[in-house]
Amino acid sequence: MKIHEYQAKEIFVQYGIPINPGYLCHNIDDAIWAYEKLDSDLVVVKAQVHTGGRGKAGGVKLAKDTIEMRNHTANILGMDIKGYIVDRVLLAKAVDIENEYYVSFVIDRNTKSALLMLSKEGGVDIEEVAHKTPDKIHKIAIDPAVGMPDYLARQAAFLLFDDIMQVRQAASIFQKLYKLFIETDASLAEINPLILTPDKKVVAIDAKMTFDDNALYRQKKISELFEPTEEEKKEQKAKSKGFSYVHLGGDIGCMVNGAGLAMATMDMIKLYGGTPSNFLDIGGSSNPTKVIEAMKLLLSDKDVKVVLINIFGGITRCDDVARGLLEAFKQIDTDTPIVIRLTGTNEVEGRELLKGSKFHLAETMGEATRKAVELAQ
Ligand code: GDP
Ligand code: MN
Repeated sequence: MKIHEYQAKEIFVQYGIPINPGYLCHNIDDAIWAYEKLDSDLVVVKAQVHTGGRGKAGGVKLAKDTIEMRNHTANILGMDIKGYIVDRVLLAKAVDIENEYYVSFVIDRNTKSALLMLSKEGGVDIEEVAHKTPDKIHKIAIDPAVGMPDYLARQAAFLLFDDIMQVRQAASIFQKLYKLFIETDASLAEINPLILTPDKKVVAIDAKMTFDDNALYRQKKISELFEPTEEEKKEQKAKSKGFSYVHLGGDIGCMVNGAGLAMATMDMIKLYGGTPSNFLDIGGSSNPTKVIEAMKLLLSDKDVKVVLINIFGGITRCDDVARGLLEAFKQIDTDTPIVIRLTGTNEVEGRELLKGSKFHLAETMGEATRKAVELAQ
C-alpha cells in the first residue's frame, strides 16, 4: 500500500526526522492560507500522487512570491502525472540545497533482512544510477537481531558525509528511519533527496513509503490512509466475495478453480501469444451464484474480449459444474465468447450437458487456450 508524501512526512515528524514543514492544499484558497502560515517567501508546490518522478513531470515547482505560488498551484492541481490526476498539493517551505543524497530501507529477500541503501547521487532517478553506475549505491543489510546501533549508523553516515557534525545528524536520521520502517511494517521507506543545506543541516525534503498489505490488519492508523485505485477497489470487492482476484490488464478473462491451475492457465495464454486480463481463483465449487459473481467481475472489465473458464473436477464433479454454469448463464446476458474446458471427475457427463450451448468447448488446456487466444484476436 502506498501513501502520499505529506502523510509519510507526518510519520517522519512523529519519529523525529527533520523535514521542511508544509501544508496540504486542495485549492488556491488553501494555498494562500498555507503561504501566510509558512511565512517564507520561497516555497515549493508539490503534487501529491501515488507515483514518483513528479519533479520531471512538472509536478514540483519553486515559487518566490504569491503570484508564482498561485500560478504553480493552479497549474499543478488537475495535472495528469502518469495517469494520476492531482487533486491536492503540498505547499512546503523551500530550502536551499548544497547537496542531495539518496537514502532508503527496503526488504531484501536474499539476506532476509532490511537493507539500507545509500548514495551520493541523490535527487535523480535512482533506478538510472543503479543501472548505469551501480557502484555508486551502497547497500547495508541490517541484522534484525542487532538493528541499527550507533556505530553502524555512523559507519553508514560516513559513506555520504565527511564532517562529523553532518555524520551525526545523518546517523540519527538512519536510526529513526529504521525504527519507523520496522514498527510500521513498511516495505519501503525512502528519502530522495535527503539534503544538506548551506548552513549544514541535514533534512528530508521528500518522503516515500509503501507498506506490506499483509500487515495492515495490525497497522490500523496506516490502513486508514488507503486510497484504492479503481483496480484495487475491484480487487477488494472480489476479496470480500471470497475470490482471489488480481487485475493484469490483458484481454482474456480467466475463471479457474485453484490457484495453481490459474497460474498455469495464465502461462498457457502467454505461451500461445495472448494476454490474460486477470488472475481469478473461484475456489473449489460449482455454486452458480459464485460463477455469476465471477462472470460479472470479469465482464465489468471493458478490455475483456473472451472469457476462458478452466475447471479441473477433483472433489467437485464436472457435471455439477456444468449444471452450475448453465444455471448461471441463464442470468447473464453477454455477447462475449466463452471457452470452457472441463476435465476430471465426470467430465464426459459434464461436457455432454454443455453440448448445444453457446459455449466453445475444449477438452485439453492447450485446445482451450489456443481457442481463447484466437477469439481474442
Ligand atoms: P519527486 O520528483 O517526485 O521525487 O519529487 P521531489 O520531492 O524529490 O522533488 C524533485 C526535485 O525538486 C528535488 O530533487 C529537488 O531538486 C527539487 N526540490 C524539491 N524541493 C525543493 C526545495 O525545497 N528547494 C529546492 N531548491 N529544490 C527542491
Ligand atoms: Mn524525490
